[in-house]
Amino acid sequence: MTITACTLDCPDACSLVAESGVDGLRLRGNPDHPFTRGFACPKLDVHRRRQISPHRLRSPRLKVDGRWQDISWDEAMGLCAEKIALYRDEPRSILHVRGSGNRGVIKALSNLFFRRLGASGLHGSLCDEAGIAACTEDFGCLRTNDISDILNTSALVNWGRDLARGSVHTAALVRALRKKGVPVLTIAPGEDTAKGFTDHFVRVRPGTDRFLAAAVLREVLRRQGIAPEVGAACRDLAGFEELLAGCGPELLEWCGATPADVALLADHYAGPMPVATLLGWGLQRYCFGGQNVRFINALAMLSGQVGRSGGGTYYGLSSMANFELPWKTETAYGRTLLMPDLARELRRADPPVRMAWIECINPANQFPEAAEVARALAGLDFVVVADAFMTDTAEVADLILPVALMLEQEDVVGSFLHEYVQLSAKAVEPPQGVRTDHRILSDLGARLSPPVTLPGPEEALRQALGSSTLNGSLEELRSRGYVRSTHGPVAFEGLRFGHADGLYRLPPRLDPPMTTMDDGYPLQLLTLINRRFVHSQILPEDQTGEPVVSVHPRTLEGLGIEPGAGWLVTALGRLAVLFAADESMHPDCAVYRRGPWGKLGGGVNRIIGFVETDMGGVGAYYEQRCRLERRGQ
Ligand code: SF4
Repeated sequence: MTITACTLDCPDACSLVAESGVDGLRLRGNPDHPFTRGFACPKLDVHRRRQISPHRLRSPRLKVDGRWQDISWDEAMGLCAEKIALYRDEPRSILHVRGSGNRGVIKALSNLFFRRLGASGLHGSLCDEAGIAACTEDFGCLRTNDISDILNTSALVNWGRDLARGSVHTAALVRALRKKGVPVLTIAPGEDTAKGFTDHFVRVRPGTDRFLAAAVLREVLRRQGIAPEVGAACRDLAGFEELLAGCGPELLEWCGATPADVALLADHYAGPMPVATLLGWGLQRYCFGGQNVRFINALAMLSGQVGRSGGGTYYGLSSMANFELPWKTETAYGRTLLMPDLARELRRADPPVRMAWIECINPANQFPEAAEVARALAGLDFVVVADAFMTDTAEVADLILPVALMLEQEDVVGSFLHEYVQLSAKAVEPPQGVRTDHRILSDLGARLSPPVTLPGPEEALRQALGSSTLNGSLEELRSRGYVRSTHGPVAFEGLRFGHADGLYRLPPRLDPPMTTMDDGYPLQLLTLINRRFVHSQILPEDQTGEPVVSVHPRTLEGLGIEPGAGWLVTALGRLAVLFAADESMHPDCAVYRRGPWGKLGGGVNRIIGFVETDMGGVGAYYEQRCRLERRGQ
């Protein structure tokens, strides 16, 4: 039996117990963990099946004249060293693309490797960065109350978090709150996220949350003003009050909420009792995603809900914040390209990119304009993909390196939900022919001249755990499986914030909605998370049948379309899908559960264009307009 932890790109970072069984590794939640408390989610079983899948790659593969050939590791590493030597005179012509598919401190050493080379890297993100930038701008750092402090609230506002498909431990806390009789209000475009988790549901038009937050804030301030200590903790409060005073009834027209919704929310935010606000991880995927998050934070701040137990806003934490990672400050890429606009960035890069090294991410599936990304990558001289499966991105590679999955190597992992650092202990040997990322890069680095060296795994772990916010040794982690950070349960107590002047920052502007032209694409396409899978980490055998697009029955009826086979169409192309009627959907939206691979009939990001968010360099995926067509049209 091994105490270990999940390293998938999921907030919970569950502590797990791993046992060997006849059908491979058996995994269950670790009952002794103070936060994850012995349960996990169905994705764990998918992970177990991925480990033993017959589709798993077990040998390096080289594309020769368009056909895949198995080659030895020695040949593969020799070829990589040869290519890097070829491009090393201009190291920015080598691009490093790393995602979060398998998280951990040792795995992240690839950042150090390519920074030491002086290669190009990426900035921006596919998802959370607009919200991170917003919270960092507001609070001066990315902190929240301890997630368990939610249990001290007298009301919870769930502003867009999908508790039915996201963090199972947040969902458990919300269930516990409701059991105690604490009211939960949910704000979202679709009611499906709220089923079983809410007492009141407020429907908003997708991407317009900032207007509802501003409207509620106006009402709260009308009722109770701003407490002097709260006002004194903000910079340029007068400017913000002027901004709010210039707003009026258009706020509700824009977001689609009613005066009764505003009054209900104000009933909770105004007054002496603590209200906690959970922020969803879709709020930031709009053009004004940063503003959405900033106005919700401002509502909590000015209504006196920040810096107290039971209050606060919960966007997220940095999962690496509690580690000492000198490579982050001591080394830098030669330049960075904007991640969600990779195809265009590759076309305009000067000096041009010749070689790419891609790991823990599936750009030809996950990035906006994914088909263009695939084409741009295929046009490079040499593309290495380190992956365990023949993903959409692996298909465009020249060389594929089969890598170890989680629990096949020791690492430590943080969480973007809770304050525990976990040991992801090695619970099983990687299959024959498969290597860890660290071993691959150490071997490669030794073949280069001059060599590029990485710290050994043990050294990297000890260094990471030397952080000033951790009070635990590697030995303690190895025996217990987890250590909590030294952060207290309440963030920003005394209303001292992370900026140099200690003050909170209010948003300086509120932009009106994007004008939507009636250009034949009447619906907003929301590509939301999947309950069973993390992103595109789906086994081929689980991708049978066409992807489903859920639409409100009235919308289907209005378009004269029956549930069943159809086309999901955007200005970039069309995808064969099945329409399903679902009353919980917002009538202006079509909802697709993202993840399925393009080569297996999915790949929705091929028809999603790139638009940048107002902060953080994120793709505003949810701004994509679409229409539905019957098959045969
Ligand atoms: S995917 Fe998330 S909830 Fe599921 S086991 Fe991993 S960390 Fe836990």
